[in-house]
Amino acid sequence: MTAKGSLYLLPEPNLDEMPSSWLIRVAQLHGVSVKELLAGIGVTRSRDLDIAFASRAIGRLTRGVDLNVGRLHLISRIFGPFRNERWMKVWLRKDTRQQLTTGFCPNCLSEDYEPYWRSVWRFRYWVACPTHRRRLLDACAGCSRLIQIDRYINRPATPSAESFLTVCVHCGESLMFGGSQDEPLSPVLATMAIDLQRVVTAALFHNGFQVVGIPEKVPVSFLPSVLIAGALPGESMECDPDPRLIDEIRSAISYASRSGARGIRRKSEIYVAQSSSYRVWKGDVAKLAEKVIELRFLKLLDSSVDLREAVFDNSK
Ligand SMILES: [Zn+2]
Ligand SMILES: [Zn+2]
Repeated sequence: MTAKGSLYLLPEPNLDEMPSSWLIRVAQLHGVSVKELLAGIGVTRSRDLDIAFASRAIGRLTRGVDLNVGRLHLISRIFGPFRNERWMKVWLRKDTRQQLTTGFCPNCLSEDYEPYWRSVWRFRYWVACPTHRRRLLDACAGCSRLIQIDRYINRPATPSAESFLTVCVHCGESLMFGGSQDEPLSPVLATMAIDLQRVVTAALFHNGFQVVGIPEKVPVSFLPSVLIAGALPGESMECDPDPRLIDEIRSAISYASRSGARGIRRKSEIYVAQSSSYRVWKGDVAKLAEKVIELRFLKLLDSSVDLREAVFDNSK
């Protein structure tokens, strides 16, 4: 590092890079830990760096540096909704002790010219890599421990030619070769999961989403309800639910905008029942989000699930 308060050499962030991944790369380049890096520029550490990585921190990091600041705002944007909506934390990967963790695709890491972690790897619904059509891993193949982001952030600087991001912080095993023995994904289920992952990610990035048949942007807090109702990805990045639900969704949106309610919450507990024609989909948004991850993402990768059940019976 050079003059106090500014960094003169910053690697360009990739557009789909997790902000903490970029910070880990910056720190490694300067031979310090992320903790020291942030302390050096007067940014207070917060529990979740990716969510906290907003205008102020970006401004301080890039003071006097020749770097495309717009790119940094862009990579922080997907975490924007997490700053305002508490229930959204349900989407994030954590271990049993609530430590933040990330998934990873060994193939992506090994093919990167300069390896980096993708933002979407932090999300529990991101279960399959669309590039390599394989299951995302969340644990080291050597020691089976989860990849805790904080361990990398607090990691003291040690000279290493290898990127910290490709090595297990516990046992030193490479993360680039794990899981080659994975069972292959069913092509149909993988496609479904990958299409749906894209819809959810676009909704996070835009802090809202489009539903076929509804002209206005639907708030992101409605996403779990619409997905539980069985909506399928539409042609572009929109949801295409049962058309009979459209009027109900519209009235719920207008109710929510008048009352300030988040999502569809006419009942205090989750209520997902199969009626003769379509599913009922009201309930607490965090609980619905939890159900969505289980039924519409994790279940798709369960090899014991038969396809018909996965597609048509996501009501249980
Ligand atoms: Zn991949
Ligand atoms: Zn390990």
